[in-house]
Amino acid sequence: MTAEHDVQGIGITELAERFGTPMFVYDGEALRRQYQGLRERLHPAVDMFFSLKANPNLSICAVLHSYGACAEVSSLTELITARRAGVAPRDIIFLGPGKSRDELAACLREQVYAVVVESFGELELLDEVAAEHGVVAPVALRVNPEFAVKGGGLTMGGKPRQFGIDEAQLFAAADLGVRLPNIRLMGVHAYLGTRILSEEVIAENTTRILDLAERLAERHGFPLEMVDIGGGLGVAYFEGETDLDPALVAERVNPVVEAFRTRHPDTRVIMELGRYLTAPSGVYVVGVRYVKESMGQRFAVADGGTNHHMAAVGTGSFVKRNYPMVLLNRVTEPAAAEWQVTGPLCTPNDTIGKNVPLPAVRPGDLIGVLRSGAYGPTASPVHFLSHGYPAEVLVHEGRAYLIRHRDDPEDLLSHQPMHEDLTTPAQLVPAASTSNGHTSNGRIRVS
Ligand SMILES: *Cc1c(COP(=O)(O)O)cnc(C)c1O
Repeated sequence: MTAEHDVQGIGITELAERFGTPMFVYDGEALRRQYQGLRERLHPAVDMFFSLKANPNLSICAVLHSYGACAEVSSLTELITARRAGVAPRDIIFLGPGKSRDELAACLREQVYAVVVESFGELELLDEVAAEHGVVAPVALRVNPEFAVKGGGLTMGGKPRQFGIDEAQLFAAADLGVRLPNIRLMGVHAYLGTRILSEEVIAENTTRILDLAERLAERHGFPLEMVDIGGGLGVAYFEGETDLDPALVAERVNPVVEAFRTRHPDTRVIMELGRYLTAPSGVYVVGVRYVKESMGQRFAVADGGTNHHMAAVGTGSFVKRNYPMVLLNRVTEPAAAEWQVTGPLCTPNDTIGKNVPLPAVRPGDLIGVLRSGAYGPTASPVHFLSHGYPAEVLVHEGRAYLIRHRDDPEDLLSHQPMHEDLTTPAQLVPAASTSNGHTSNGRIRVS
């Protein structure tokens, strides 16, 4: 007998039988390890905020919150999610370049800790909405810095961006603090990129953002109640990548924070963490429906694919790099051949693994895409071919919980009202005899 993958002692076959496939399974223990591993080492002045964007599931947010995480949200639903998960308003910040009036109003109603403002236009609108509510809005200015620090997957600083306000514009602005009576400037935010796997780069970012925040607060004479140093901490997905070492992150970042705190002992420093917290905990589990060969290549056609896990397709890179993938129900069996692992969509792009070394795959097998706890279904075209969201399962303290049921056809169709007029048989008039001046080939008749 070959061993199977398990989550806290619960076998993957049992989970698949109980909840069906495709599904995402999250290991609460891995979530805790990832959170605590950094929390225990990081400077106590740094508050860790979970970016719900990476995994907006209510239970994931609740569990991370139970470990101590605060919340960074970017939509009305994410805000409501964080509140339902039990996160206190003073531990929530709201950011995003295109906030609606309703979202700004919700921030004020819920009394979030800070609205991270990303444009002058938003600042004015927020002032207006705050006046309507008879409150003063706490604002952190998101800066688009002039500098960029290399070493991440996606760099944000030093480029034209819809995010934040250019550093130069912020320093040039004349009366930022005083012109808008319902705005209270209290913080600075900058986010320099994602998928950063270098402890040095994280420390360098932190140094520069803290410095920028100090200068900006001084320039406009507002008290620096908080600085959000962004984050963008990555996890290793591909060959040649190495995970960050939380001890080393702390070793590099803590002295920077400590030096800042001697000048600003009461300033709350915020680090945003999305992928870093949730990615390692998740596995995307698909069931193999068919195996076939085409022109010398082996295909495992599974019940789920890029519709739930677009990130695994690896577009954008020149050579497709696979996420780590395994045959979950026979993990110890050695790889025997290379497989194309594909999903149910009618497009050749629906390939979640190319030339994946696997043992002989059979229908009914379970294939897992590891490290899939971030930017999975939430960042995928889940409605393509109307398959909908997959099931999500969390194993927490030895028990498996269904934390999102898979969409069924009624879930999906319930958003489409039925109009009787549109579903009764139409009286089709022969196209050639239409009298609207158009011939059947669409040209205007000139009789
Ligand atoms: C996307 C995003 C995050 C989370 O990014 P990760 O790479 O998942 O940690 C945090 N802050 C901002 C501003 C973001 O846009």
